[in-house]
Amino acid sequence: MGKMTNKIAVVTGGARGIGQEICRVFLREGARKVYSIDMNIGEEQHEQLEHVVLNVLERNDIERFIGKLAELNLPIDVLVNNAGITRDGLIHNISSEMWDQVIDVNLKGVFQMTQAIAPMMMNQGQGSIINISSIVGLYGNIGQTNYAATKSGVIGMTYTWAKEFTRKGAYVRTNAIAPGFIHTEMLDSVPEKVLQPIRERTPLGRLGKPADIANAALFLASDDSSFVNGHVLSVDGGLRL
Ligand code: NAD
Repeated sequence: MGKMTNKIAVVTGGARGIGQEICRVFLREGARKVYSIDMNIGEEQHEQLEHVVLNVLERNDIERFIGKLAELNLPIDVLVNNAGITRDGLIHNISSEMWDQVIDVNLKGVFQMTQAIAPMMMNQGQGSIINISSIVGLYGNIGQTNYAATKSGVIGMTYTWAKEFTRKGAYVRTNAIAPGFIHTEMLDSVPEKVLQPIRERTPLGRLGKPADIANAALFLASDDSSFVNGHVLSVDGGLRL
């Protein structure tokens, strides 16, 4: 029996990168259904995988999607708030637009998805919410004022929900993952001269792989972590040390 047997999961940003790998790992572990929520349709194909084209900023579309699941009586066991963007620059180069875009997707998107799904989980009496933060949200990073603000904010929401969604006996756990630098298309804009020192500073001597984060998400989604709540799990090869 897989660690996700009978579980239904919603993964935002599931079309590529870390989100795609999380979908794969959940399916490999026997998930009953995985919904990949993304602006794009991913290439991954699986009988139990459904690609839903949806912008996490579009509240009406989120409500329509959740309404459809409620009609079908499909309970959501796991929500992974993974969709995120960067618009990097030193602070004097960050325009209002760059600030707003990152704040919107990385904070408001997480807020809206969770606001729509958490009440269902609380009614069911159980669930697991996993927020993808970043090492940058814990320690900051030059050129990422906007991104760091959002990834720290995600940790604040994680701690809040770990308290709020466990009221009245509901067993809805909320945790975060703080990845280090993970080899995905998000890093395409980061020059090699920046990445090489990161490899050198990482005790494990490499960048992360999407599977490193997906395996951590599997732990937090599954019953293996049934007493883990309000935790930020660093998956960074020791880079933070
Ligand atoms: P990615 O850019 O490869 O994939 C992000 C996905 O999110 C894309 O498929 C994109 O279409 C989707 N997306 C973006 N905006 C969306 C929206 N408004 N609505 C729905 N979907 C949207 O990124 P990744 O590297 O896989 O990163 C995934 C998460 O991990 C992000 O939250 C990122 O901040 C975080 N993270 C990444 C790294 C890294 O080094 N790659 C490190 C730390 C944290």
